[in-house]
Order: sequence, then structure tokens, then C-alpha cells
Amino acid sequence: MDHPPLGLLLDVDGPIASPLTRTVAQPGILPDLRALLAAGIPVVFNTGRSDAFLRERVIAPLVAGGWPAGARLHAVCEKGAVWGTVGADGLGEVHVDDTLAVPPVCAEVVAALVAGGHGAAMDVDRTKRSMATVEARTDVPPADYRRAQAAFDTDLVAALTARGLGVRLGDRVVRDAAGRCPWRVDPSVIATDLESVSVGKDLGARRALELLAADGPLPRSWHTVGDSPSDYRMADQLHGLGAEVMHVDVHPAGPPPARPYPVTIDPVLRDDAAGARHLRSLVTRFT
Ligand SMILES: [Mg+2]
Repeated sequence: MDHPPLGLLLDVDGPIASPLTRTVAQPGILPDLRALLAAGIPVVFNTGRSDAFLRERVIAPLVAGGWPAGARLHAVCEKGAVWGTVGADGLGEVHVDDTLAVPPVCAEVVAALVAGGHGAAMDVDRTKRSMATVEARTDVPPADYRRAQAAFDTDLVAALTARGLGVRLGDRVVRDAAGRCPWRVDPSVIATDLESVSVGKDLGARRALELLAADGPLPRSWHTVGDSPSDYRMADQLHGLGAEVMHVDVHPAGPPPARPYPVTIDPVLRDDAAGARHLRSLVTRFT
């Protein structure tokens, strides 16, 4: 088997699933993914989402449209803590790195905060295996959620440190009695994750390389696609390992950050519309 000309590492919320509907809303995305898989382009989803979300919202409709012979598709979920391989029957056995799971008290703290009033803007995501996560309610306007999220994140850090956990939120680091800080509060556009400081899109990229190394030759070059500043860590990691990579930012926060590899931003389209356009360009090029 030859080395594939390209490999794709795809963040899901933003470039694939609409941040508004949280489903695959662009009609071209699933057929184009199938066409790329059929052409021998390996694809790995690299998401902070749970395997349950990915299975229901992306993998089930993708596989329902037919499974290309020889397709290489893997799912890295919860920023590298959870992973599995997709086949004709959907997502197979799910693996969890238990050393990356937050302690049970974290889910209790998050549930109590949501029950205690923060639930007006957010729900608990009960499908996570390694994290404790709240997600924006779809009936709450984004600006309202942002305000509610900032208050929730502050209350979450206070509740966790009151229970003796070491936790960080952005630049703020609160250590435990032993001087450690093993956990991170990580807000994104539609969610806040409470997670191990060892997970991230860079760990997801390393997991993707392991999964692809086990089922065939590695790609000659890569495109990574995401909508958050943290998604650049996929490309940072691949570049750091000596791979040729280009990052596609579908929701830039400003001018493209300086990176030692190319960064592509669609001049007009954002989010899943930009993700769909990029996949279409790859279908034109590789099939
Ligand atoms: Mg995203």
C-alpha cells in the first residue's frame, strides 16, 4: 500500500457540525467525507465531544450513506482520552485512558452548580467518560451564554478548590495541598470542560497517529481543520514531529497567528460552511 497523499484531522463542532444546530447541517459534508475515504484519504475526528455525541450526530449518518471499501476512519474523543475505530457497522470498541479521567466528585460539583441555578443557560453533558462537561442550551442566545458561562466557570473553580482539588482556568492556577494542579477548566464557544491537564488536541493528534500507524501507511502530509485557537495544537504537534501540515481555521479570532506552517482561512465562509468548502476542494483535488 502506498502512503496516502493526505491525511485529515478534523475538529467536529465548527468545521463539521454546525455550532448552532450541533448536527451535520451542510448537505455536502457527509458525501464528500465518504468520497475522500473511498479515495484512500485517512480521516480522524479529533474532538472534545463524547463518543456518544460523535456516534449519533456524525458517524451514524455518515455510515448510513454507505461505507467505502478500505476506508480508514478513526474517532478521537474527549481531547484524546477516548478513542475508537469506525467500520461499516459504525464506531467499534471504545477505549478510555482511565488515568486521564477526572475524579467522581467533579461530576457531583458540576451537577450541583447546574441544579443550583446555572441550568438556566446550560445542561450537563452526561455522555462524557473522562470529563465533567456543561453545554450551552440551544434555546439560549450566544451572548447570554457567554455571560452565564463566565459566572459558572468562576463558581466551578471555587467549588473544586473548596474540595481540595488543584485546578487551573486560563492563567489562574490554584494548587492542591501537595502543590499539584492536575485539572483544568476549559471554556469553549458552546461548552465548559473540566478535564485532565494532559488532554488536548495535541494528545488527540498523537492518538490519531497511533491509530493510523496500526492500520496502514501514514499520510505524506496533513490538513488539520478547526474553529478554536486550541485546534492549532493539532498542527503544532504534527509539525513538531516533522510532518508536513497545513491548518484550516474556520472561525479565526483575528488575523492568523504566526505559525511555522501554512494557515488557511476562507475569505468569506465560516464554521461548517467553510469546513464544507474545504472538503469539496479536497474532493476535486483527490478524486
Ligand atoms: Mg470546535
